[in-house]
Amino acid sequence: MSVIRALHTQLVRRERSAEEITREYLVRLSQLEPQLKSFLTVTEELAQQQARAVDERIRSGEAVGPLAGIPIAIKDNLCTRGIPTTCASKILQGFIPPYESTVTARLAAAGMVMVGKTNLDEFAMGSSTENSAFQVTANPWDLTRVPGGSSGGSAAAVAADQAVVALGSDTGGSIRQPAAFCGVVGLKPTYGLVSRYGLVAFASSLDQVGPFGRTVEDVALLLQGIAGHDPMDSTSLRVPIPDYSQALIPEVKGLKIGVIRELLGEGCGEETRAAVQAAIEHLQALGAEILEIDCPSFRYGLATYYIIAPSEASANLARYDGVKYGLREAADSLLSMYGKTRSRGFGPEVKRRIMIGTYALSSGYYDAYYLKAQKVRTLIKQDFLNAFEKVDVLVSPTTPTPAFRVGEREDPLSMYLCDLMTIPVNLAGLPGLSLPCGFADGLPIGLQIIGNALQEPKVLQVAYAYEQSTDWHKQRPPLLGSTTQPSSPPETEGKSGKSKSAKPRKKGQSN
Ligand code: GLN
Repeated sequence: MSVIRALHTQLVRRERSAEEITREYLVRLSQLEPQLKSFLTVTEELAQQQARAVDERIRSGEAVGPLAGIPIAIKDNLCTRGIPTTCASKILQGFIPPYESTVTARLAAAGMVMVGKTNLDEFAMGSSTENSAFQVTANPWDLTRVPGGSSGGSAAAVAADQAVVALGSDTGGSIRQPAAFCGVVGLKPTYGLVSRYGLVAFASSLDQVGPFGRTVEDVALLLQGIAGHDPMDSTSLRVPIPDYSQALIPEVKGLKIGVIRELLGEGCGEETRAAVQAAIEHLQALGAEILEIDCPSFRYGLATYYIIAPSEASANLARYDGVKYGLREAADSLLSMYGKTRSRGFGPEVKRRIMIGTYALSSGYYDAYYLKAQKVRTLIKQDFLNAFEKVDVLVSPTTPTPAFRVGEREDPLSMYLCDLMTIPVNLAGLPGLSLPCGFADGLPIGLQIIGNALQEPKVLQVAYAYEQSTDWHKQRPPLLGSTTQPSSPPETEGKSGKSKSAKPRKKGQSN
Protein backbone atom coordinates (compact mmCIF):
# COMPACT_ATOMS: atom_id res chain seq x y z
CA MET A 1 0.00 0.00 0.00
CA SER A 2 1.13 3.52 -0.62
CA VAL A 3 2.15 5.82 2.22
CA ILE A 4 -0.73 8.17 1.34
CA ARG A 5 -3.29 5.33 1.46
CA ALA A 6 -1.95 4.03 4.77
CA LEU A 7 -2.14 7.47 6.39
CA HIS A 8 -5.53 8.19 4.84
CA THR A 9 -6.93 5.00 6.34
CA GLN A 10 -5.63 5.99 9.77
CA LEU A 11 -7.15 9.44 9.39
CA VAL A 12 -10.62 8.36 8.37
CA ARG A 13 -10.68 5.61 11.02
CA ARG A 14 -9.67 8.36 13.45
CA GLU A 15 -6.75 6.31 14.71
CA ARG A 16 -4.52 9.35 14.27
CA SER A 17 -5.19 13.01 13.63
CA ALA A 18 -3.67 15.04 10.82
CA GLU A 19 -2.04 17.13 13.53
CA GLU A 20 -0.28 14.08 14.98
CA ILE A 21 0.90 12.93 11.57
CA THR A 22 2.15 16.43 10.73
CA ARG A 23 3.99 16.67 14.03
CA GLU A 24 5.67 13.32 13.40
CA TYR A 25 6.91 14.51 10.00
CA LEU A 26 7.99 17.93 11.27
CA VAL A 27 9.99 16.32 14.09
CA ARG A 28 11.81 14.03 11.67
CA LEU A 29 12.29 16.91 9.26
CA SER A 30 14.10 18.97 11.86
CA GLN A 31 16.06 15.98 13.22
CA LEU A 32 17.49 15.27 9.79
CA GLU A 33 17.76 18.80 8.43
CA PRO A 34 21.22 19.58 9.88
CA GLN A 35 22.62 16.65 7.88
CA LEU A 36 20.45 16.82 4.76
CA LYS A 37 19.67 20.53 4.19
CA SER A 38 16.70 19.66 1.95
CA PHE A 39 14.66 22.75 2.88
CA LEU A 40 15.11 26.46 2.27
CA THR A 41 12.00 27.35 4.29
CA VAL A 42 10.12 25.24 6.83
CA THR A 43 6.47 26.29 7.14
CA GLU A 44 5.75 24.70 10.49
CA GLU A 45 2.96 27.01 11.58
CA LEU A 46 1.14 26.85 8.28
CA ALA A 47 1.43 23.04 8.32
CA GLN A 48 -0.09 22.82 11.78
CA GLN A 49 -2.90 25.16 10.76
CA GLN A 50 -3.66 23.16 7.62
CA ALA A 51 -3.59 19.91 9.60
CA ARG A 52 -5.99 21.27 12.21
CA ALA A 53 -8.37 22.36 9.45
CA VAL A 54 -8.42 18.79 8.09
CA ASP A 55 -9.02 17.37 11.56
CA GLU A 56 -11.90 19.77 11.93
CA ARG A 57 -13.44 18.54 8.68
CA ILE A 58 -13.06 14.90 9.69
CA ARG A 59 -14.50 15.57 13.15
CA SER A 60 -17.54 17.21 11.59
CA GLY A 61 -18.17 14.05 9.60
CA GLU A 62 -17.08 15.41 6.22
CA ALA A 63 -15.68 12.86 3.77
CA VAL A 64 -12.13 13.90 2.88
CA GLY A 65 -10.13 12.86 -0.19
CA PRO A 66 -6.92 10.79 -0.08
CA LEU A 67 -4.63 13.85 -0.12
CA ALA A 68 -6.20 15.55 2.91
CA GLY A 69 -3.87 15.79 5.88
CA ILE A 70 -0.85 14.44 3.96
CA PRO A 71 2.45 16.33 4.52
CA ILE A 72 4.04 17.58 1.29
CA ALA A 73 7.23 19.47 0.40
CA ILE A 74 7.24 22.01 -2.45
CA LYS A 75 10.20 22.90 -4.67
CA ASP A 76 11.12 26.51 -4.07
CA ASN A 77 10.48 27.57 -7.66
CA LEU A 78 6.72 27.31 -7.18
CA CYS A 79 5.12 30.54 -6.02
CA THR A 80 3.41 30.35 -2.65
CA ARG A 81 1.49 33.42 -1.58
CA GLY A 82 3.02 35.14 1.44
CA ILE A 83 5.85 32.60 1.68
CA PRO A 84 9.34 33.35 0.33
CA THR A 85 10.04 31.82 -3.09
CA THR A 86 13.73 32.06 -3.90
CA CYS A 87 14.54 29.62 -6.73
CA ALA A 88 17.70 29.21 -4.61
CA SER A 89 18.92 32.47 -6.13
CA LYS A 90 20.23 35.59 -4.43
CA ILE A 91 18.35 37.64 -6.99
CA LEU A 92 15.01 36.54 -5.51
CA GLN A 93 16.07 36.85 -1.90
CA GLY A 94 13.32 38.68 -0.06
CA PHE A 95 10.74 38.10 -2.81
CA ILE A 96 7.36 37.14 -1.37
CA PRO A 97 4.90 36.15 -4.09
CA PRO A 98 1.57 37.98 -4.06
CA TYR A 99 -0.06 34.96 -5.73
CA GLU A 100 -0.19 31.19 -5.52
CA SER A 101 0.77 28.67 -8.21
CA THR A 102 -2.14 26.64 -9.55
CA VAL A 103 -0.65 23.33 -8.41
CA THR A 104 -0.07 24.40 -4.82
CA ALA A 105 -3.51 26.05 -4.73
CA ARG A 106 -5.13 22.81 -5.88
CA LEU A 107 -3.25 20.72 -3.33
CA ALA A 108 -4.09 23.12 -0.51
CA ALA A 109 -7.76 22.94 -1.52
CA ALA A 110 -7.46 19.13 -1.37
CA GLY A 111 -6.32 19.51 2.25
CA MET A 112 -2.61 18.81 1.80
CA VAL A 113 -0.27 20.04 4.49
CA MET A 114 2.77 21.96 3.25
CA VAL A 115 5.79 21.43 5.50
CA GLY A 116 8.18 23.63 3.54
CA LYS A 117 9.93 24.78 0.38
CA THR A 118 12.80 22.64 -0.87
CA ASN A 119 16.30 23.40 -2.09
CA LEU A 120 17.17 23.30 -5.80
CA ASP A 121 19.85 24.30 -8.25
CA GLU A 122 19.51 28.04 -8.86
CA PHE A 123 16.54 28.54 -11.21
CA ALA A 124 16.47 24.75 -11.66
CA MET A 125 19.71 24.81 -13.65
CA GLY A 126 21.83 21.86 -12.67
CA SER A 127 21.88 18.17 -11.80
CA SER A 128 23.20 18.07 -8.24
CA THR A 129 21.60 20.90 -6.22
CA GLU A 130 25.16 22.23 -5.79
CA ASN A 131 24.20 25.32 -7.82
CA SER A 132 21.92 26.55 -5.02
CA ALA A 133 23.08 29.96 -3.82
CA PHE A 134 22.29 28.95 -0.23
CA GLN A 135 23.22 25.36 0.64
CA VAL A 136 24.12 21.95 -0.73
CA THR A 137 21.60 19.18 -0.03
CA ALA A 138 23.02 15.77 0.86
CA ASN A 139 21.91 12.41 -0.52
CA PRO A 140 20.16 10.51 2.30
CA TRP A 141 21.85 7.25 1.19
CA ASP A 142 25.35 8.70 1.50
CA LEU A 143 25.81 12.17 2.93
CA THR A 144 29.02 12.73 0.94
CA ARG A 145 27.05 12.44 -2.31
CA VAL A 146 24.65 14.72 -4.16
CA PRO A 147 20.89 14.05 -4.23
CA GLY A 148 20.76 14.92 -7.93
CA GLY A 149 19.06 17.97 -9.28
CA SER A 150 17.63 20.30 -9.82
CA SER A 151 14.80 19.08 -7.53
CA GLY A 152 17.34 17.58 -5.10
CA GLY A 153 15.67 18.96 -1.98
CA SER A 154 12.31 17.44 -2.88
CA ALA A 155 13.82 14.03 -3.70
CA ALA A 156 15.91 13.93 -0.52
CA ALA A 157 12.95 15.03 1.62
CA VAL A 158 10.80 12.16 0.35
CA ALA A 159 13.61 9.58 0.57
CA ALA A 160 14.23 10.57 4.20
CA ASP A 161 10.56 10.79 5.25
CA GLN A 162 10.77 14.52 5.89
CA ALA A 163 7.56 14.66 3.83
CA VAL A 164 5.29 11.96 2.43
CA VAL A 165 5.43 13.32 -1.11
CA ALA A 166 6.83 16.37 -2.89
CA LEU A 167 6.50 18.47 -6.01
CA GLY A 168 9.41 19.15 -8.33
CA SER A 169 9.84 20.54 -11.81
CA ASP A 170 11.49 18.81 -14.75
CA THR A 171 12.95 20.72 -17.71
CA GLY A 172 15.59 18.19 -18.77
CA GLY A 173 15.42 15.56 -16.04
CA SER A 174 15.11 17.45 -12.78
CA ILE A 175 12.45 15.16 -11.30
CA ARG A 176 13.56 11.80 -12.69
CA GLN A 177 17.31 12.17 -12.13
CA PRO A 178 17.08 13.12 -8.41
CA ALA A 179 14.38 10.45 -7.95
CA ALA A 180 16.87 7.90 -9.31
CA PHE A 181 19.73 9.19 -7.12
CA CYS A 182 17.57 9.16 -3.97
CA GLY A 183 15.77 5.84 -4.57
CA VAL A 184 12.24 7.23 -4.88
CA VAL A 185 9.62 7.44 -7.65
CA GLY A 186 9.40 10.62 -9.74
CA LEU A 187 7.19 11.46 -12.71
CA LYS A 188 7.47 14.14 -15.37
CA PRO A 189 3.99 14.41 -16.89
CA THR A 190 3.14 15.08 -20.55
CA TYR A 191 3.85 18.71 -21.44
CA GLY A 192 0.66 20.68 -20.81
CA LEU A 193 -0.99 18.14 -18.50
CA VAL A 194 -0.05 20.09 -15.37
CA SER A 195 -0.36 23.87 -15.09
CA ARG A 196 2.82 25.95 -15.08
CA TYR A 197 1.04 29.00 -13.68
CA GLY A 198 3.16 30.18 -10.76
CA LEU A 199 6.10 27.93 -11.64
CA VAL A 200 9.02 30.30 -12.09
CA ALA A 201 9.92 29.85 -15.76
CA PHE A 202 13.27 28.36 -16.76
CA ALA A 203 12.66 27.03 -20.31
CA SER A 204 8.96 27.41 -20.96
CA SER A 205 8.63 24.88 -23.79
CA LEU A 206 10.20 22.16 -21.62
CA ASP A 207 9.22 22.86 -17.98
CA GLN A 208 6.66 20.60 -16.30
CA VAL A 209 5.69 20.21 -12.64
CA GLY A 210 5.46 16.66 -11.33
CA PRO A 211 5.20 14.43 -8.25
CA PHE A 212 7.72 12.54 -6.08
CA GLY A 213 6.68 9.70 -3.79
CA ARG A 214 8.02 6.54 -2.21
CA THR A 215 5.70 4.36 -4.28
CA VAL A 216 4.07 4.45 -7.71
CA GLU A 217 0.66 4.76 -6.11
CA ASP A 218 1.73 7.82 -4.11
CA VAL A 219 2.88 9.42 -7.36
CA ALA A 220 -0.39 8.52 -9.12
CA LEU A 221 -2.44 10.03 -6.29
CA LEU A 222 -0.45 13.25 -6.28
CA LEU A 223 -0.63 13.49 -10.09
CA GLN A 224 -4.42 13.25 -9.77
CA GLY A 225 -4.33 16.28 -7.52
CA ILE A 226 -2.38 18.51 -9.93
CA ALA A 227 -3.35 17.38 -13.46
CA GLY A 228 -5.97 19.21 -15.49
CA HIS A 229 -6.72 22.27 -17.56
CA ASP A 230 -5.91 25.71 -16.18
CA PRO A 231 -7.09 28.86 -17.99
CA MET A 232 -4.13 30.72 -16.44
CA ASP A 233 -1.62 28.70 -18.51
CA SER A 234 -1.92 29.07 -22.28
CA THR A 235 -0.05 25.79 -22.88
CA SER A 236 -2.37 23.85 -20.60
CA LEU A 237 -4.15 20.98 -22.39
CA ARG A 238 -7.91 20.67 -22.53
CA VAL A 239 -8.20 16.92 -22.11
CA PRO A 240 -10.24 14.68 -19.85
CA ILE A 241 -8.22 13.52 -16.84
CA PRO A 242 -8.47 9.78 -16.21
CA ASP A 243 -8.57 8.18 -12.77
CA TYR A 244 -4.89 7.31 -12.46
CA SER A 245 -5.53 4.82 -9.65
CA GLN A 246 -7.41 2.66 -12.15
CA ALA A 247 -4.17 2.29 -14.07
CA LEU A 248 -2.49 0.56 -11.14
CA ILE A 249 -2.88 -3.00 -12.36
CA PRO A 250 0.08 -5.25 -11.48
CA GLU A 251 0.07 -6.76 -14.95
CA VAL A 252 2.23 -6.32 -18.07
CA LYS A 253 1.14 -9.41 -19.98
CA GLY A 254 0.53 -8.51 -23.62
CA LEU A 255 2.27 -5.13 -23.35
CA LYS A 256 5.12 -4.34 -25.70
CA ILE A 257 8.09 -2.70 -24.04
CA GLY A 258 10.82 -1.11 -26.14
CA VAL A 259 14.42 -0.90 -24.96
CA ILE A 260 16.16 2.19 -26.35
CA ARG A 261 19.39 0.80 -27.74
CA GLU A 262 21.18 4.16 -27.77
CA LEU A 263 20.70 4.64 -24.02
CA LEU A 264 22.13 1.30 -22.91
CA GLY A 265 25.34 1.54 -24.89
CA GLU A 266 28.19 4.00 -24.70
CA GLY A 267 27.91 6.46 -21.84
CA CYS A 268 26.05 4.06 -19.53
CA GLY A 269 27.91 2.79 -16.47
CA GLU A 270 28.38 -0.98 -15.99
CA GLU A 271 26.44 -1.31 -12.75
CA THR A 272 23.57 0.76 -14.09
CA ARG A 273 23.41 -1.27 -17.29
CA ALA A 274 23.39 -4.54 -15.33
CA ALA A 275 20.58 -3.38 -13.01
CA VAL A 276 18.46 -2.09 -15.90
CA GLN A 277 19.04 -5.24 -17.95
CA ALA A 278 17.90 -7.32 -14.97
CA ALA A 279 14.79 -5.12 -14.69
CA ILE A 280 14.04 -5.68 -18.38
CA GLU A 281 14.37 -9.46 -17.93
CA HIS A 282 12.07 -9.19 -14.95
CA LEU A 283 9.42 -7.39 -17.01
CA GLN A 284 9.79 -10.09 -19.65
CA ALA A 285 9.31 -12.78 -17.01
CA LEU A 286 6.14 -10.97 -15.95
CA GLY A 287 4.82 -11.46 -19.49
CA ALA A 288 5.79 -8.32 -21.41
CA GLU A 289 7.13 -8.60 -24.93
CA ILE A 290 10.54 -6.91 -25.16
CA LEU A 291 11.67 -5.22 -28.38
CA GLU A 292 14.89 -3.37 -29.15
CA ILE A 293 14.26 0.12 -30.50
CA ASP A 294 16.63 2.46 -32.34
CA CYS A 295 16.37 6.18 -31.73
CA PRO A 296 19.26 7.46 -33.86
CA SER A 297 18.61 11.18 -33.26
CA PHE A 298 18.98 10.84 -29.48
CA ARG A 299 22.72 11.34 -29.82
CA TYR A 300 21.97 14.99 -30.59
CA GLY A 301 19.67 15.36 -27.57
CA LEU A 302 22.15 17.01 -25.20
CA ALA A 303 23.44 19.46 -27.83
CA THR A 304 19.89 20.36 -28.84
CA TYR A 305 18.78 20.89 -25.25
CA TYR A 306 21.78 23.05 -24.42
CA ILE A 307 20.81 25.45 -27.22
CA ILE A 308 17.05 25.52 -26.63
CA ALA A 309 16.95 25.60 -22.81
CA PRO A 310 19.51 28.43 -22.39
CA SER A 311 17.84 30.40 -25.22
CA GLU A 312 14.50 30.31 -23.45
CA ALA A 313 16.19 30.93 -20.09
CA SER A 314 17.96 34.03 -21.40
CA ALA A 315 14.57 35.48 -22.34
CA ASN A 316 12.81 34.35 -19.15
CA LEU A 317 15.51 35.67 -16.84
CA ALA A 318 15.54 39.15 -18.42
CA ARG A 319 12.81 40.16 -15.96
CA TYR A 320 15.19 40.10 -12.97
CA ASP A 321 16.47 43.62 -13.30
CA GLY A 322 16.40 44.91 -9.74
CA VAL A 323 13.11 46.74 -10.33
CA LYS A 324 10.41 44.13 -9.95
CA TYR A 325 11.67 41.39 -7.63
CA GLY A 326 13.96 40.73 -4.68
CA LEU A 327 17.48 42.07 -4.82
CA ARG A 328 18.35 45.63 -5.91
CA GLU A 329 21.93 46.92 -5.92
CA ALA A 330 22.44 50.65 -5.41
CA ALA A 331 24.00 52.45 -8.38
CA ASP A 332 24.13 55.94 -9.89
CA SER A 333 22.21 55.14 -13.07
CA LEU A 334 19.42 52.79 -14.07
CA LEU A 335 21.63 50.86 -16.44
CA SER A 336 24.37 50.27 -13.90
CA MET A 337 21.73 49.28 -11.32
CA TYR A 338 20.54 46.57 -13.76
CA GLY A 339 24.09 45.43 -14.34
CA LYS A 340 25.18 45.38 -10.71
CA THR A 341 22.00 43.63 -9.56
CA ARG A 342 22.31 40.89 -12.17
CA SER A 343 26.02 40.48 -11.67
CA ARG A 344 25.62 40.02 -7.88
CA GLY A 345 22.28 38.26 -7.94
CA PHE A 346 22.93 35.44 -10.43
CA GLY A 347 25.36 32.59 -9.81
CA PRO A 348 27.92 31.35 -12.36
CA GLU A 349 25.79 28.61 -13.97
CA VAL A 350 22.85 30.95 -14.51
CA LYS A 351 25.16 33.55 -16.06
CA ARG A 352 26.66 30.89 -18.32
CA ARG A 353 23.18 29.92 -19.57
CA ILE A 354 22.19 33.55 -20.16
CA MET A 355 25.37 34.08 -22.20
CA ILE A 356 24.90 30.92 -24.28
CA GLY A 357 21.21 31.65 -24.85
CA THR A 358 21.72 35.28 -25.80
CA TYR A 359 24.43 34.22 -28.25
CA ALA A 360 22.30 31.47 -29.82
CA LEU A 361 19.40 33.86 -30.31
CA SER A 362 21.45 36.75 -31.70
CA SER A 363 20.58 37.75 -35.26
CA GLY A 364 23.77 36.44 -36.84
CA TYR A 365 23.60 33.03 -35.19
CA TYR A 366 19.88 32.34 -34.82
CA ASP A 367 19.64 30.18 -37.96
CA ALA A 368 22.83 28.29 -37.24
CA TYR A 369 21.98 27.42 -33.63
CA TYR A 370 18.45 28.02 -32.42
CA LEU A 371 16.63 27.22 -35.65
CA LYS A 372 18.83 24.18 -36.27
CA ALA A 373 18.21 22.96 -32.73
CA GLN A 374 14.46 23.24 -33.24
CA LYS A 375 14.74 21.10 -36.38
CA VAL A 376 16.72 18.44 -34.54
CA ARG A 377 14.12 18.58 -31.78
CA THR A 378 11.55 17.55 -34.40
CA LEU A 379 13.75 14.61 -35.45
CA ILE A 380 14.00 13.43 -31.84
CA LYS A 381 10.25 13.65 -31.50
CA GLN A 382 9.90 11.65 -34.72
CA ASP A 383 12.13 8.88 -33.29
CA PHE A 384 9.70 8.61 -30.38
CA LEU A 385 6.65 8.59 -32.66
CA ASN A 386 8.17 5.81 -34.76
CA ALA A 387 8.91 3.84 -31.60
CA PHE A 388 5.38 4.19 -30.26
CA GLU A 389 4.01 2.68 -33.44
CA LYS A 390 5.69 -0.55 -32.32
CA VAL A 391 5.59 -0.48 -28.50
CA ASP A 392 3.42 0.66 -25.58
CA VAL A 393 6.21 2.11 -23.47
CA LEU A 394 9.97 2.58 -23.73
CA VAL A 395 12.50 1.86 -21.01
CA SER A 396 16.07 2.97 -20.30
CA PRO A 397 18.24 3.77 -17.33
CA THR A 398 17.27 7.13 -15.78
CA THR A 399 20.89 8.20 -15.35
CA PRO A 400 24.23 6.91 -16.64
CA THR A 401 25.57 6.35 -13.09
CA PRO A 402 24.35 6.40 -9.47
CA ALA A 403 24.83 9.54 -7.31
CA PHE A 404 28.29 11.11 -7.50
CA ARG A 405 30.26 12.86 -4.76
CA VAL A 406 29.71 16.50 -3.81
CA GLY A 407 32.30 18.57 -5.71
CA GLU A 408 33.15 15.75 -8.10
CA ARG A 409 31.74 17.34 -11.27
CA GLU A 410 33.11 20.85 -11.43
CA ASP A 411 33.32 20.86 -15.20
CA PRO A 412 29.89 21.98 -16.48
CA LEU A 413 30.01 19.54 -19.40
CA SER A 414 30.40 16.53 -17.11
CA MET A 415 27.38 17.82 -15.15
CA TYR A 416 25.35 18.19 -18.35
CA LEU A 417 26.01 14.54 -19.18
CA CYS A 418 23.83 13.48 -16.21
CA ASP A 419 20.75 14.23 -18.28
CA LEU A 420 21.72 12.27 -21.35
CA MET A 421 18.84 9.84 -20.87
CA THR A 422 16.11 12.16 -19.61
CA ILE A 423 16.46 15.13 -21.98
CA PRO A 424 14.95 13.56 -25.16
CA VAL A 425 11.71 13.03 -23.20
CA ASN A 426 11.39 16.76 -22.45
CA LEU A 427 12.27 17.74 -26.00
CA ALA A 428 9.34 15.59 -27.20
CA GLY A 429 6.98 16.67 -24.37
CA LEU A 430 6.32 13.07 -23.25
CA PRO A 431 5.66 11.52 -19.83
CA GLY A 432 8.60 9.82 -18.12
CA LEU A 433 8.87 8.11 -14.76
CA SER A 434 11.83 6.90 -12.73
CA LEU A 435 11.58 4.17 -10.12
CA PRO A 436 14.13 2.20 -8.11
CA CYS A 437 15.46 -0.92 -9.87
CA GLY A 438 18.59 -1.83 -7.94
CA PHE A 439 21.57 -0.71 -5.90
CA ALA A 440 25.29 -0.37 -6.50
CA ASP A 441 27.43 -0.08 -3.36
CA GLY A 442 24.42 1.07 -1.34
CA LEU A 443 23.37 3.70 -3.90
CA PRO A 444 20.00 3.49 -5.68
CA ILE A 445 19.68 2.99 -9.45
CA GLY A 446 16.66 4.24 -11.43
CA LEU A 447 14.69 2.67 -14.28
CA GLN A 448 13.09 5.16 -16.66
CA ILE A 449 9.72 4.32 -18.24
CA ILE A 450 8.58 6.59 -21.09
CA GLY A 451 5.11 6.78 -22.64
CA ASN A 452 3.56 8.46 -25.63
CA ALA A 453 1.79 11.78 -24.99
CA LEU A 454 -0.92 11.45 -22.31
CA GLN A 455 -0.11 7.77 -21.79
CA GLU A 456 0.58 8.31 -18.08
CA PRO A 457 -1.77 5.40 -17.27
CA LYS A 458 0.39 2.94 -19.24
CA VAL A 459 3.59 4.29 -17.71
CA LEU A 460 2.09 3.96 -14.22
CA GLN A 461 0.83 0.45 -14.97
CA VAL A 462 4.26 -0.85 -16.03
CA ALA A 463 5.91 0.91 -13.08
CA TYR A 464 3.34 -0.53 -10.68
CA ALA A 465 3.67 -4.07 -12.04
CA TYR A 466 7.44 -3.86 -11.65
CA GLU A 467 7.28 -2.33 -8.18
CA GLN A 468 4.71 -4.79 -6.84
CA SER A 469 6.86 -7.75 -7.85
CA THR A 470 10.17 -6.38 -6.52
CA ASP A 471 11.45 -5.16 -3.15
CA TRP A 472 13.71 -2.26 -4.13
CA HIS A 473 11.27 0.41 -2.98
CA LYS A 474 11.20 -1.11 0.51
CA GLN A 475 14.87 -0.32 1.07
CA ARG A 476 15.40 2.70 3.31
CA PRO A 477 18.41 4.97 3.76
CA PRO A 478 20.50 3.83 6.76
CA LEU A 479 20.37 7.29 8.36
CA LEU A 480 16.67 6.81 9.08
CA GLY A 481 17.63 4.29 11.75
CA SER A 482 18.74 7.16 13.98
CA THR A 483 15.42 9.06 13.82
CA THR A 484 11.90 8.76 15.05
CA GLN A 485 10.63 5.86 12.98
CA PRO A 486 7.46 6.55 11.03
CA SER A 487 4.83 4.72 12.99
CA SER A 488 2.59 4.36 9.97
CA PRO A 489 3.92 3.46 6.54
CA PRO A 490 3.82 -0.30 6.26
CA GLU A 491 6.76 -0.48 3.89
CA THR A 492 9.24 0.88 6.40
CA GLU A 493 11.58 -1.92 7.29
CA GLY A 494 14.64 0.04 8.34
CA LYS A 495 16.83 -2.05 6.06
CA SER A 496 20.12 -0.76 4.78
CA GLY A 497 20.57 -0.26 1.06
CA LYS A 498 23.87 -2.07 1.36
CA SER A 499 22.13 -5.37 1.99
CA LYS A 500 22.11 -7.62 -1.02
CA SER A 501 18.85 -9.25 0.00
CA ALA A 502 16.46 -7.17 -2.05
CA LYS A 503 16.59 -9.18 -5.24
CA PRO A 504 13.58 -8.89 -7.50
CA ARG A 505 11.17 -11.68 -6.69
CA LYS A 506 10.58 -14.14 -9.43
CA LYS A 507 7.24 -14.46 -11.10
CA GLY A 508 4.73 -16.40 -9.11
CA GLN A 509 6.69 -16.06 -5.88
CA SER A 510 4.41 -14.80 -3.14
CA ASN A 511 4.81 -11.85 -0.81
N1 GLN B 1 20.09 19.36 -15.45
C1 GLN B 1 19.39 19.99 -16.53
C2 GLN B 1 19.82 21.43 -16.62
O1 GLN B 1 20.71 21.78 -15.93
C3 GLN B 1 17.91 19.88 -16.33
C4 GLN B 1 17.40 20.78 -15.28
C5 GLN B 1 15.92 20.67 -15.09
O2 GLN B 1 15.27 19.72 -15.52
N2 GLN B 1 15.37 21.69 -14.47
O3 GLN B 1 19.32 22.20 -17.36
